[in-house]
Amino acid sequence: MALLQHLCSAPLTRAIRSRSLTLSSRTMSATLTPTRVAHVDSHVLLGMSEQELQQLSLDLGQQSYRGKQLHHLIYKRKVKEIQDFSQLPQAFRNDLQEGGWRVGRSSIHQAVTAADGTVKLLIKLADNRLVETVGIPVEHDKGSFRLTACVSSQVGCPLRCSFCATGKGGYSRNLQRHEIVEQVLAIEEIFKQRVTNVVFMGMGEPMLNLKSVIEAHRCLNKDVQIGQRMITISTVGVPNTIKKLASYKLQSTLAISLHAPNQKLRETIVPSAKSYPLDAIMKDCRDYFLETSRRVSFEYTLLGTEVSFGELCLCGAL
Ligand code: SF4
Repeated sequence: MALLQHLCSAPLTRAIRSRSLTLSSRTMSATLTPTRVAHVDSHVLLGMSEQELQQLSLDLGQQSYRGKQLHHLIYKRKVKEIQDFSQLPQAFRNDLQEGGWRVGRSSIHQAVTAADGTVKLLIKLADNRLVETVGIPVEHDKGSFRLTACVSSQVGCPLRCSFCATGKGGYSRNLQRHEIVEQVLAIEEIFKQRVTNVVFMGMGEPMLNLKSVIEAHRCLNKDVQIGQRMITISTVGVPNTIKKLASYKLQSTLAISLHAPNQKLRETIVPSAKSYPLDAIMKDCRDYFLETSRRVSFEYTLLGTEVSFGELCLCGAL
């Protein structure tokens, strides 16, 4: 779901209301010089639970409380390098490094700030690929503050929706869980504020990378401490995945990117709609609600004059 090419789920709509965002992924290239090596990195601390970090500490001959310290350093202090874990013995830090472990934080390649304070980041991953994430700050009249992180789930996207620059740029690979989580930490670093909301509406289709999305969701909720209800997962619809998502019984919002009130028009905008008709999506959404008791929201991007007001009203009848 490429942000700003998909407007919007209710949380994101609230987050960006009254804003005129001028940032566009067209202004940034999708990659530097990607390596072709398959990028599967299991020796990354970011994304691990406290229990897993305790087990890792035991495996390396330490006491389990070292795992709690690791958890604190990674998620609370947000330390990026193992050698900067100054609370830990030097020998433990060396053992982690010699075992091939790393924290899993990447550098920020570029940051663009819009006049309204929205910040778009390009994060340079370990294999040189670039991924976008957006931070959207909103101050409310009564003094409350909301910071929404719009995160990517893939580098590029294979679905090629007609209006989407990310889709046109092609697809490179799925993101791993830590590469999703680190986007939220990068937004916190830039804003020096806690992220309050997360929307999976950046580059890529989250349902095509459901395993990492679910793992990142767990970490964002349990380790980074963002409430499940503050997280929205957005999709254009991938067959058999809404049911699977429902089986996790997350207390998060599912957002469907509709973009058209009927199947015929939708197929011209969202090519993947051919294999997942609207009536099947609607049935799966009803089942999702029954299974999770969580509402489903619908997003609709108005594209030129291709749809009349009357047709738009038909969305309500779906
Ligand atoms: S599914 Fe992919 S191609 Fe379609 S709008 Fe989202 S990011 Fe773009």
